[in-house]
Amino acid sequence: MSSLSRRAALVGLGAAIIVRPTPAPATEPRMLRLYQVTTGESFRDYYHNGEGYLERAWQRLNWFLRDHHEDVATNMDPALFDLLWTLQNRFLAVHHREVTININSAYRTERTNTQLLSEGAALNSFHKFGRAVDITVQGLGIYFLADRVREIGAGGVGIYWRSRFAHIDTGPARSWFQRM
Ligand SMILES: [Zn+2]
Repeated sequence: MSSLSRRAALVGLGAAIIVRPTPAPATEPRMLRLYQVTTGESFRDYYHNGEGYLERAWQRLNWFLRDHHEDVATNMDPALFDLLWTLQNRFLAVHHREVTININSAYRTERTNTQLLSEGAALNSFHKFGRAVDITVQGLGIYFLADRVREIGAGGVGIYWRSRFAHIDTGPARSWFQRM
């Protein structure tokens, strides 16, 4: 077992507990529909086959969610994929349509994060650890979006009012509003 899939097994166990308070059947495959706003790249594929994370898809997601300022990728927290997947399912349940989640920003190197401090980035941002994404969904307001995250009852969600996106991360459940 490679270190990546071992980590997937370990983190996946925790993610199942944290992100899914009412677990779906263990065999349900999980798909993500994502669009990276800056690079114009899309990810639309299964990343989990219901039994475990798919390593190839995980690696593609690592690159897809890279720091695009420096073209540097990291091992993203797979609990973040589960949070996005759960969120997609929430949109489907409430809004009755499949949505693509737009990614404004995901992984950030130390240098990129430092450059973004004046734009409201946190010094110890979860972005630096591959545990956060800034997102929008076409046709859905950021408040609606943030409410769907809060319903999940896991992870952090911040509304960035001026920038018009919502930040979500795999940290403790909490929410905030920022005018930046
Ligand atoms: Zn963020």
